[in-house]
Amino acid sequence: MSRLIAGTGRKRTRLGDATLFAEGLHEVAPNTFAWMVPNGSWGETNLGLVRCGDQSVLIDTCWDLHFMREVLQHAQPVLRHAPIRHVINTHADGDHWWGNQLFAQVPITATQASADQVHRHPPAQLRALQLGATLMQRLPVAQVDALGRYMGDMLRPYRFQGVKVQAPTHTFSGETTLDVGGVVLHLTEVGPGHTDGDCIVHLPQRGVVYTGDILFVGVTPVAWAGPVSGIVAALERVLALRPEVIVPGHGWLASPADVQLQIDYWDWAQSALHPLARTGMAPLQASREALASRTFNASPFAGWIAPERLFTSACTLWREWGVDTGALAGPMAALGALDHFRKQASLVSAARTG
Ligand SMILES: [Zn+2]
Repeated sequence: MSRLIAGTGRKRTRLGDATLFAEGLHEVAPNTFAWMVPNGSWGETNLGLVRCGDQSVLIDTCWDLHFMREVLQHAQPVLRHAPIRHVINTHADGDHWWGNQLFAQVPITATQASADQVHRHPPAQLRALQLGATLMQRLPVAQVDALGRYMGDMLRPYRFQGVKVQAPTHTFSGETTLDVGGVVLHLTEVGPGHTDGDCIVHLPQRGVVYTGDILFVGVTPVAWAGPVSGIVAALERVLALRPEVIVPGHGWLASPADVQLQIDYWDWAQSALHPLARTGMAPLQASREALASRTFNASPFAGWIAPERLFTSACTLWREWGVDTGALAGPMAALGALDHFRKQASLVSAARTG
């Protein structure tokens, strides 16, 4: 059972929805905490905080400094006695990483594969997207205004000004163990899958595992890097640890059944999309058909946040299957990310009107 130690009291999520659980610091096992952010959508990222005697380990940091400082303020009941002396990043997505600069004085550990990606999407790129989204919403051009709304909603709560990328100071590949004041933290590289360098953090003495973004609860998962089989293997690994508490990267605490449901989602996605890919259908049309199918709409996945992310995972699967995704190439490749989200945004409007 978890216990709320300090909450922000917000009744609405950053994206404006009613909250499904309390935002704040929850004690999930003795001296073992999760900063949980409802409802687990874009940037609504969970963090871990592990007290090890007179010091603490922080697992992941926020997308921006404003939210990171808010966490530190609310976590004072713990940090007052046990300041953060170590940071772990589960992977290289900015929403788990960009608060690192507030911890420049302590060791920061991540996989080498994550460290290699740390400069791939700099904060300036997202600031440009924020500005672009505002402008696009004013353009009455087919789908451009929808893209602007989609990107704008996704990024509006965050302030990327002042974010400097702070790379990890310690990297590993495979596995590593930290012993912090007698508390053992096993870090296992489970990527590539969600990203190239995913890792999970297991505390065997406390029966807790922090999964990063190989696991979402109540939120549609996404395979940015793939292979999807890597995510499934990672989820099976989490189940094999038989933890008492599973803290996902996004969404409320997971039961083993939630982990299994996520494995079922990936099975469904592959079996729904593969026959369509073989006909030469593009990922966007295939995703549209899969999301409109009776099987999907009768499944628990249909109620998850952001179903349109299936399109991103479809593009990853198309690459795995050796099928052309239709992504922009050559001199147009720089527009690839915008074109990708334009297509993904079109699935949202299709779902709203459908
Ligand atoms: Zn995330």
